[in-house]
Amino acid sequence: MGQKKLIERLKERHSLNFKEWEQLFAFYTKEDADYAMILAREIAVREFGKEVYFRGIIEFSNFCKNDCYYCGIRRSNKACQRYRLEQEDILKCCEEGYENGFRTFVLQGGEDRWFTDERMCGIIEAIRKRYPDCAVTLSVGERSRESYKAMKGAGADRYLLRHETADAAHYAMLHPKCQTLEKRLSCLWDLKEIGYQTGCGMMIGSPGQTPAALAKDMKFMETLQPEMIGVGPFLPHRETPFRDEKKGSMELTLFVLALCRIMLPRVLLPATTALGTADADGRKQGVLAGCNVVMPNLSPMQVRKKYMLYDAKAGTEIDAAQGIAILKKQMEEIGYEVVVCRGDFRKDKNDD
Ligand code: SAM
Repeated sequence: MGQKKLIERLKERHSLNFKEWEQLFAFYTKEDADYAMILAREIAVREFGKEVYFRGIIEFSNFCKNDCYYCGIRRSNKACQRYRLEQEDILKCCEEGYENGFRTFVLQGGEDRWFTDERMCGIIEAIRKRYPDCAVTLSVGERSRESYKAMKGAGADRYLLRHETADAAHYAMLHPKCQTLEKRLSCLWDLKEIGYQTGCGMMIGSPGQTPAALAKDMKFMETLQPEMIGVGPFLPHRETPFRDEKKGSMELTLFVLALCRIMLPRVLLPATTALGTADADGRKQGVLAGCNVVMPNLSPMQVRKKYMLYDAKAGTEIDAAQGIAILKKQMEEIGYEVVVCRGDFRKDKNDD
């Protein structure tokens, strides 16, 4: 079967088998990718109109106990200047964000043991108390099921934890031995069961990624049925073991985003910062490939350059108000509008 037929089959059934996925990734052409993007865009417009949700990312700590080979804030990067924000600093970011129309705050950080459950719950409760009409999303890595439960009880709504790759051998190429795919997936299943709107996802073009690994990613996401998917290109960071690796392809990233939209029509799909870093028009291209979320930075200006996951990360020079103004303009240029709302996942069935 040709690649176009496979894309049409995906649209009909929201599923392909492993071999079909592998074939699609191994043999797709630019024309196939463009075709997928057109279908994905139509589906996104049907589901969300020409509206894009925006979330504010607050990068509240760059301390990390992990040593992921790709990541600029990995434990072994001695050149990284470490910082932690106080609760009051985090609330100031929310205040600035709220004034600028943000209604979801994403608390993202390295796996920093200083942020115990008690501290995390205190921060979540304080945000929810001051901004009851806002959603809180967490992105703080692997924690115990009890911890996830406690933070949900404190008022967190969503959790982003990329699986990075659903292929165990590939996972082992990206992480030290103590980090396993099995553990990552069990965290994701815990998050789902506890009732978070759960996000998984992967970098495109990470070293060692094959069509078969991408096929496993798609099969895994078909099974997990995540409410959110984070997909962006791998970008090298000069202080990591992957400093000399090639960056991920923009075309393949957009193709994967489009396929995610076709497979899971209602999924919340951000045009990521990495996409905006790889190409100045990346966020626009992402929306035109089926994305419906953008996540500008709300971190205090003085720490932004310290949260460098990869080289030349976009958005470190502009403040929240400028960030949202640029975003509005970019979306207007392609006929879309950013909307002030929480932008939750709609629970109804994922079918056409
Ligand atoms: N510690 C939390 C976690 O692991 O989920 C949140 C922070 S972590 C830095 C957020 C995401 O950044 C990772 O899931 C990874 O996919 C992405 N990332 C890290 N280094 C990257 C790189 N060099 N290129 C592209 N994305 C990267």
